[in-house]
Amino acid sequence: MTATPERAKRDAGHVAHNYHPLPVNIARGDGAWVTDVEGKRYLDLLAAYSAVNFGHRHPALVAALTEQLGRVTLTSRAFESDRLEPFAAALAKLCGKDLVLPMNTGAEAVETGIKVARAWGYRVKGIADGRARIIVAAGNFHGRTTTIISFSDDESAREGFGPYTPGFDIVPYGDADAIAAAITDDTAAVLIEPIQGEAGVVIPPEGYLRRIREICDEKNVLFIADEIQAGLGRVGETFACDREGVVPDLYLLGKALGGGILPVSAVVGDEDVLGVIRPGEHGSTFGGNPLAAAVGLRVVEMLESGEFQERARALGAHLDQGLQPLIGHGVTAVRIAGLWAGVDIDPAKGSGREIAEKLLDRGVLVKDTHGQTIRIAPPLVIRATELDWAVEQLRVVLGA
Ligand code: PLP
Repeated sequence: MTATPERAKRDAGHVAHNYHPLPVNIARGDGAWVTDVEGKRYLDLLAAYSAVNFGHRHPALVAALTEQLGRVTLTSRAFESDRLEPFAAALAKLCGKDLVLPMNTGAEAVETGIKVARAWGYRVKGIADGRARIIVAAGNFHGRTTTIISFSDDESAREGFGPYTPGFDIVPYGDADAIAAAITDDTAAVLIEPIQGEAGVVIPPEGYLRRIREICDEKNVLFIADEIQAGLGRVGETFACDREGVVPDLYLLGKALGGGILPVSAVVGDEDVLGVIRPGEHGSTFGGNPLAAAVGLRVVEMLESGEFQERARALGAHLDQGLQPLIGHGVTAVRIAGLWAGVDIDPAKGSGREIAEKLLDRGVLVKDTHGQTIRIAPPLVIRATELDWAVEQLRVVLGA
């Protein structure tokens, strides 16, 4: 097909316009740093939305991938592969659960969690066919599929993409009583992010997760924690739910599970919940492939040592010390959990996007979200001195 005149005029390349990237063209990544095509280096404070928790090309992860590349890359789930069970066993143990259902992207893990919850609702709880409902939180971000955007309250994610999938009830985030009030006999699950990442690192009040756990137990409803962005070391614990000592019925994992190398996601739960899915009812050509399983296993082994969780705790406390003095000087609020911060920028200093562009000029990569917030989620291998340097760049950009 020949290009339309407008298309030819635009001359904007061939990548569809579903993102508005910052003007930097990355050619290489090493640890906490990336290098653009002209050789300029940038400190990466986004870490691919926490997918690069272990840094760019961590040697142990590259070694796991390379070793597996020399053996077999893809078998499909039509056959067993010698890599999948060791990965599943290690991940199940890390989560304290029985079973792992491997997928690829975060959105697929969420979709899988929804299917599991509905199937559990019908087959175990006894909800009448077609009536199962799932409670979600306002401000949620769980991915981009048509079902997932059906229960988003972000119009830029939803508008123009209907008709929407029914069966979801939205309640305010951080309010456990609202969840209790919304539960009916048809409620199969509560699906929440233990910390809302895309919303701007929104941390619920202490006790929220514990109360959801109690409510779900009382009312025979599943508690599904979307730990895709919050989990796997980022908040200074293996899971954000650990901050309140809470174990959900299903963990939804993604991003860092693939070590920043491959898309790897999973739903993890006990036999009595995840076991409701029967052969032939769900799957994925690439889910649990040998490369993903080899890398995922190494990720789990790295998390087992606790080293990265400890780094997130210590470095997060350090970052907090650097950010707090900026409040009132171009920053209106800082929310921080482990090495994960939402920094609200005073509109008088510019939008989050404008601040991100100025930081880019100074060699620091961050991502704005919801207008005035910038999110800081560096690779957990970053050094304290590098964080100090990045905070100094922010201070300069804000004129503080
Ligand atoms: N869930 C949460 C909490 C997320 O932050 C994201 C992505 O940002 C997703 C799900 C979707 O993951 P993916 O982009 O891999 O589909």
